[in-house]
Amino acid sequence: MMKSMQKALNASGAVVRVSSPDEVSKVVKFATKHHIPIAVKGAAYSTSASSSTHGGIVIDLCKLSRVIVDPESHTVTAQGGATWEDVDRAAARLRLAVVGPTTNYISVGGTALGGGYGWLTGRYGLVIDNLLSLRMVLADGRIVNASAEENPDLFWAARGAGQDFGVATELVFKAYPQSNEVFGGMLYFSLDKLPDIVDFVNGFEHQSTGNEGLFFGFDRPPLVEKTMILTILFYNGSETEAREFFQPLLSLAPTVNETEMMPYIRMNTLMNKAAKFGGRKRISGTNFTLPLDIKLLEELCQDFDKIMKTYPRVNQSALMFELLPYNEVIKVPNDATAFMNRGRYYNVASIFCWHAPEIDSKMKSLQQSMMQKIGERAGIARSPHLGDGTGLYANFVGHDASAKDLFGDGLPRLQELKLKYDPTNVFRKWHDLFDHKNVV
Ligand SMILES: Cc1cc2nc3c(=O)[nH]c(=O)nc-3n(C[C@H](O)[C@H](O)[C@H](O)COP(=O)(O)OP(=O)(O)OC[C@H]3O[C@@H](n4cnc5c(N)ncnc54)[C@H](O)[C@@H]3O)c2cc1C
Repeated sequence: MMKSMQKALNASGAVVRVSSPDEVSKVVKFATKHHIPIAVKGAAYSTSASSSTHGGIVIDLCKLSRVIVDPESHTVTAQGGATWEDVDRAAARLRLAVVGPTTNYISVGGTALGGGYGWLTGRYGLVIDNLLSLRMVLADGRIVNASAEENPDLFWAARGAGQDFGVATELVFKAYPQSNEVFGGMLYFSLDKLPDIVDFVNGFEHQSTGNEGLFFGFDRPPLVEKTMILTILFYNGSETEAREFFQPLLSLAPTVNETEMMPYIRMNTLMNKAAKFGGRKRISGTNFTLPLDIKLLEELCQDFDKIMKTYPRVNQSALMFELLPYNEVIKVPNDATAFMNRGRYYNVASIFCWHAPEIDSKMKSLQQSMMQKIGERAGIARSPHLGDGTGLYANFVGHDASAKDLFGDGLPRLQELKLKYDPTNVFRKWHDLFDHKNVV
């Protein structure tokens, strides 16, 4: 393996499809000995080039995709390169579910190590709040376990900044009974419904019991070719309860209504098409608090629509306000894990898609200014009493934010632990904790 890797490297770089933690360890040792940059690839859906490298070695985890469910202990053990689809399927066979992201094409390691939000977050918290232990290959090639009992400092760091500490080859999650179907699906509305939708959104947290989720924002549905309001509904309970909860939206005469009862696993496939769009893409995010100002939403709608009309082949882009109830998330204090985005607010995610390389920097700056506008006018910056979270989800913002912005008061401890577990900063492609502007 090492000889062929050396040969490939002499050419332009290498991708190594590892099939065991031992192999990961060998590759990491080889790369560090020869000072070759490493990138770790899960499902490759991040858009900040954090899982690719020019001339270095990509450790591709696609073969590390085994998932084992233990129905007695209600735990799911997934290898680091498994997708959430692998996890959802294995758990569903035993009528169980785990908290995983709303798009299940993405990888277990890539999502979980940075925090992880999903439709079950309202009921059970973040993905990391349900992580019981993990196995990791460190920068010196050692294979170690981390949990509340074993290497608890590494376990602290791995829950929120894990990508910066090594290669997670196995993760164990708490699972929950999920024998009932859930209510969910997409509704599309014409833009004149925006005030009514914002009204409903502004009442969401007073009505919510933790069993719901609601995404809403702007999109250009295929074939329609005009900007519309997309909402995605989720309710973990009976159809009658769900319809009662979402009645104000359902009665707004949506142009398209695809809501119905479905297995939980299907809910996590509804947005998979967004992951598969071809061309160039960029994810970014910020946060928002309620109530939302209708004037801001109208402005954002116009901004989005203008971008869609001005630039070629950008119509697969979307802007989403993601209401996943935070009550369970904020039961865990910000300093209990390295994840510092807990507070009484919600995430906004945007995915911009385009094809022409000439507009790369334009799309980047348009997306950044849209996120900045939302952050300034709807985010925690205007309501500091809503918690001590940073307001930035590291898996969404790519390299738009510094490590200080992302990890706030947790950064000094993270840097200290980096010196212990990865003193030469081998794992730095996700967010570089030692970027010179981040040394505190
Ligand atoms: C369409 C779409 C929908 C999304 N929906 C959600 C959502 O509902 N909830 C949510 O929380 N997030 C969501 N995200 C964000 C997602 O969590 C991040 O994009 C995540 O980084 C994707 O992981 P990946 O393995 O697919 O990507 P990759 O590009 O392969 O990896 C991302 C980063 O994680 C590192 N990494 C991956 N696996 C490991 C491992 N086993 N050990 C160490 N490092 C590793 C990589 O090196 C890289 O730095 C979404 C993203 C997209 C594109």
